[in-house]
Amino acid sequence: MTIQAPAHNPSQLSLLSDASSRLEKALHHVVLSNDALGRLRFPKASLSVSIPVRMDDGSLRVFQGYRVRYDDTRGPGKGGVRYHPHVCLDEVQSLAFWMTFKCALLNLPFGGAKGGITLNPKELSRHELERLSRGYIDAIADFIGPDIDILAPDVYTNAMVMGWMMDQYSIIKRKASPGVVTGKPLALGGSQGRDTATAMGAYNVMTHILPKLDQHPGNTTVAIQGFGNAGAALATFLHQAGYRVVAVSDSEGGIYASQGLDIPKIREYKRDSPGERLRQRHSIQSIYCHDTVCNIGEEIISNGDLLKLDVDVLIPAALENQITAANAGEIQARYIFEVANGPISSAADEILDGRGILVFPDILVNAGGVTVSYFEWVQNRNGFYWTEAEVGDRLNTKMVAETAATWAIAQEKSISMRTAAYVHALNRLGEALDAKGTQDDYLS
Ligand code: NAD
Repeated sequence: MTIQAPAHNPSQLSLLSDASSRLEKALHHVVLSNDALGRLRFPKASLSVSIPVRMDDGSLRVFQGYRVRYDDTRGPGKGGVRYHPHVCLDEVQSLAFWMTFKCALLNLPFGGAKGGITLNPKELSRHELERLSRGYIDAIADFIGPDIDILAPDVYTNAMVMGWMMDQYSIIKRKASPGVVTGKPLALGGSQGRDTATAMGAYNVMTHILPKLDQHPGNTTVAIQGFGNAGAALATFLHQAGYRVVAVSDSEGGIYASQGLDIPKIREYKRDSPGERLRQRHSIQSIYCHDTVCNIGEEIISNGDLLKLDVDVLIPAALENQITAANAGEIQARYIFEVANGPISSAADEILDGRGILVFPDILVNAGGVTVSYFEWVQNRNGFYWTEAEVGDRLNTKMVAETAATWAIAQEKSISMRTAAYVHALNRLGEALDAKGTQDDYLS
């Protein structure tokens, strides 16, 4: 089966087609009805909106935004909102596709969704960003809701942005609606542990898997591409556990130290850098880090070089399509844990597989974020909040259980961890799709 993006978007078929091509291998190992398969071929609903924003200088700028609900058979749609210049409908549909399988893999009662706005958020003032975020909610309010489609942070959105979005939705609905957004500030009903959940989930997966491969903190070197919410927190967890993190990078480039980097110092630098202090003097409050790891004084490498380092573990934690057919032959890492969504193209997957490099897929490795988002949604509905230790324990239990189940499928069927993850998720999705019967097919 090849899933294709809708015909109205013919120029941008590639990312969703590439993402969904991963299903083909999994289909050899599951029993899925034609009805279920047919439904998974297309995103259920895609909304494209324009968002007019009054800028600080009085001018009007109109931004392009999207929200896609790929499938909601297992529950309301769930997925983050990305602010990035490359956001387009194809990318948002692909991200919503991955969310569908990620939620099923982790057995969360959610379908898959995603949203985004095409912009460079670093060019906006804080007030412009707030007006844009509220404008986005105005535009999509009828498409989302705590029982319909729930938002969360993604690249270049954070707890502050989620707080604005939740507030705007509550204003529109004239009632407190914390369950429409997860990843909110604690003061607005956020969950303990949500800010580090993606990194902690990845850490749970890695510490379950690596000992099976005879990789322990003392004999394992790690390189991490992307030093944001997910990458920086994971670098910290690994560093604290004694793993040697030899390289990290951000959008400006990377740094390398064969003896291992001082991760707490780098985080402190990014938080309190001269560029950051300068920006804070010029704006009400800085929400993006404007300095780079490259200024810390270690050996500088490019993002491309980082991917090719001779390390035990490579962690792409930035954007999609970083490892493609063009550079897959030069990857020297033995194991890759995908923290970013879709960092390896399907063509690169084949090359890495052929070279014996084990890849642990995004829909498993980065699922800690949506899992704690689910915990946040549950807490919002109950009005009863858990401690950080309770969140951490529940997250670890879920991540380890689904990692072990995926590993067992991979071993039993002699397939890659990616294919095993899709098999596991497809079994749950197929069962739910079939259990729903055929009523939807008769609706006009
Ligand atoms: P973020 O915005 O906090 O950080 C992104 C990082 O990537 C920054 O360090 C940025 O400088 C860097 N970056 C941007 N462009 C780059 C480039 N071209 N090359 C190298 N680095 C670049 O984002 P995040 O929340 O950490 O998300 C990172 C990835 O993890 C994304 O793929 C996201 O979809 C995925 N993810 C995040 C979460 C979450 O809860 N934050 C959950 C699941 C998946």
